[in-house]
Amino acid sequence: MKQTKKPAAGKKLSLFYLGAIVESSEDAIITKDLEGNITSWNKAAEKMYGYEAHEAIGQKIFLIIPKELHQEELVILGKLKKGERIEHFETMRVRKDKRKIYVSLSISPVKDTKGKIIGVAKIARDITAQKKAEERQQFLDKASLILSSSIDYSTTLKNIAKLIIPYLADYCRIVVFDENNLIKEVVTHHIDKRKISLVTELYKIYKDREKNIHGVNNILATGKAEILPEISEAVFESVKDNPKLVTLLQKLELQSYMGVPIKIGTKIIGAITFSSIQKDRLYTTYDLALAEELARRVAYAVENSRLYQQSQQSLAIRDEFISDASHELRTPVTSLKMYIQGLQKQFERVENTISLTYLTKMNNQVDKLTSLISDLLDVSRLQSGRIEFHEEFFDVNKLVADTVEAIKPIVKTHTINIEGEIPQLCIGDKDRVGQVLTNLITNAIKYSPKADRIVIALQPGKDAATITVKDFGIGIGKQHLDKIFNRFYRVVDLDERTFPGLGIGLYISNEIIKRHDGSMRVVSTKGKGSQFSFTLPYDKKADK
Ligand code: ADP
Repeated sequence: MKQTKKPAAGKKLSLFYLGAIVESSEDAIITKDLEGNITSWNKAAEKMYGYEAHEAIGQKIFLIIPKELHQEELVILGKLKKGERIEHFETMRVRKDKRKIYVSLSISPVKDTKGKIIGVAKIARDITAQKKAEERQQFLDKASLILSSSIDYSTTLKNIAKLIIPYLADYCRIVVFDENNLIKEVVTHHIDKRKISLVTELYKIYKDREKNIHGVNNILATGKAEILPEISEAVFESVKDNPKLVTLLQKLELQSYMGVPIKIGTKIIGAITFSSIQKDRLYTTYDLALAEELARRVAYAVENSRLYQQSQQSLAIRDEFISDASHELRTPVTSLKMYIQGLQKQFERVENTISLTYLTKMNNQVDKLTSLISDLLDVSRLQSGRIEFHEEFFDVNKLVADTVEAIKPIVKTHTINIEGEIPQLCIGDKDRVGQVLTNLITNAIKYSPKADRIVIALQPGKDAATITVKDFGIGIGKQHLDKIFNRFYRVVDLDERTFPGLGIGLYISNEIIKRHDGSMRVVSTKGKGSQFSFTLPYDKKADK
């Protein structure tokens, strides 16, 4: 007897334990028959879905399945009836209070003693928090992408409003202060475009009311975030004095509201407000934290955009100044040159050699000044596109030889050798190409103080000639090579600080060559030397 009784008692005990485990489990465990009727419902299921066991047992499982997912359930039941295995999966369920939750589900068949499937056991874990965190991260990632897509913040904020709706609000408003500290409406958006005008009207009436305790003006004044989880009777009560406002709020069906400042440090630069018209979207502090993080990212984007605009304005002012200054400098320098020439003639007559030596030196300095001024003028002309080229066919060999001849008298340190020949004429502005050559040769000399030669190589190509100026000087570090043709760019490594210059010669040269449909490039090794080459076409492009 004992022997036969023991297993029965053991079975009872294990069933008791099993029941206790199911009841105390953190996961919702429910069973249903093959028709989808709920047959058991543990404590965790009560908590997770909001229905008590007596409300759920006997009901169809569709009680907790959102309408759009009913088909999914039918497929699962079908598979189970056929004895197929169901892999663990993630889906959505709906609670008694209509809130949707994400669940991770394990489904297994319940079999009778003969092994026949008579029902299904479902173990569900609430993964809403994890899913929401993922969604929020995705939302912020998208926001960052939008904010970095353009430097014009009006455009990016319009796109941010489109992202906010519908994810975080049904209507929203973004304002920023402009340069004069006046409120600039950037965007007002509503999920139903026809209602945007209602929102705008609401704000218009609301903003001028005294004693407002919520809203954009408040946020801008206090720099504090605000939240109204539910639009209670008290809220309607507080605007009762203006029936129009009450009607608007009713028409908009506002259910919940929150607003956050856009701040850089303690400086308030704007505000974003979020409004929900859905009864099951009542804002929580969790939503407010997300809104604040969004506002933080918006703040940096707006500030960056403003700094960029300011720097662009400063650059425009600088360019204008350079243009004005170089024009103004040209006249007195031209007069100075004329007076020097006048004096030179007088001193030649009286054979005053000492004064003549000084005057020659003076004249050289004035020539340097004239060349600097004309470079500065070229920079502003190139910037504004006001530079003219007088194109003609010319002999590059002769131009190179003439340029070298002109430079030779002032170069005592280096020999300049020309290698190769271009058998064809090239097209372009001879004087401007001469200017490029002079720039490259004087740079080659200037940046190779320890070397004693420069080589100019002429190579004929199919459609264009290539002219290369080689030096054996200090060379240029790799990190500078892609910037070397930028306006005002100078290498500021230790060994370069002593060389005078404005960083505009290569910019001008490169621009001149580009306008000739040619290209300029540099090959350089630090400590070994540089090769600057440019191409010059034999003829104009057919489409020009
Ligand atoms: P800069 O008036 O400063 O010489 P450039 O526009 O002609 O202006 O040149 C820009 C910078 O490129 C120079 O400051 C210098 O650092 C570098 N550079 C130009 N040519 C050479 C060269 N041949 N060798 C080494 N560095 C050069």
